[in-house]
Amino acid sequence: AETTKTSDSDTLVMATNATFPPYEYVDGEEYKGIDIEIAQAIADAMGKKLEVDDIDFDSIIPAITTGKADMSLAGMTVTDERKENVDFSDSYATGVQVIIVPEDSDITGPDDLANDKMIGVQQGTTGHIYCSDTPKNGGFGEDHVTAYPNGASAIQALQTGKVDAVVIDNEPAKAFVAENPGLKILDTEYVTEDYAIAVKKGNTELLDQINETLAKLKADGTLQSIIDKYIKA
Ligand code: GLN
Repeated sequence: AETTKTSDSDTLVMATNATFPPYEYVDGEEYKGIDIEIAQAIADAMGKKLEVDDIDFDSIIPAITTGKADMSLAGMTVTDERKENVDFSDSYATGVQVIIVPEDSDITGPDDLANDKMIGVQQGTTGHIYCSDTPKNGGFGEDHVTAYPNGASAIQALQTGKVDAVVIDNEPAKAFVAENPGLKILDTEYVTEDYAIAVKKGNTELLDQINETLAKLKADGTLQSIIDKYIKA
């Protein structure tokens, strides 16, 4: 019989994009981060080996719907549109979309982004979706947005002046600004959202196991200690 990496094998495949510190990143030869540790706890509870499938962010939902991966942990925000394609677990963290600009920028908040600025985002993320929306809906219009395959390349575009600002989730924003002198995060937060784990639509067996593990990790303080390990208050 054909071997497929699905939940009925002894391996649990997690789809992610490991350029999203501190949720997932590559450290030497190893995948590290909050999502990796949560995924490991889920695999442990199921008696399975965890495998990390590190792909572009916008390939993650297709990997789940086609069964190439069992679940996604990718700092992924729950949205109504995504819910049409995948099922989400209970939320395990919150994210906030923030704006990164060069230290000497004249941009002080979202309103300034409307004035003929170019905004860098990560392809297929909520930051991309919100910013590309029409001004009437709180966005800046597609013409003002350039999408990059990941956060690191959006930051590089900001450093080289190809874009005036980057809109990205707050925790990776902090990590990118710490590594890239000359950049700052604006105080005005743009949008707050819930992170959750996605599984193939109708895979209630895996979803129940995930929610059960998340509930345990929340109740016994493990989730908070994982978060505290990577995010300094
Ligand atoms: N939270 C954002 C989203 O779900 C970004 C996630 C990411 O880039 N890994 O779209």
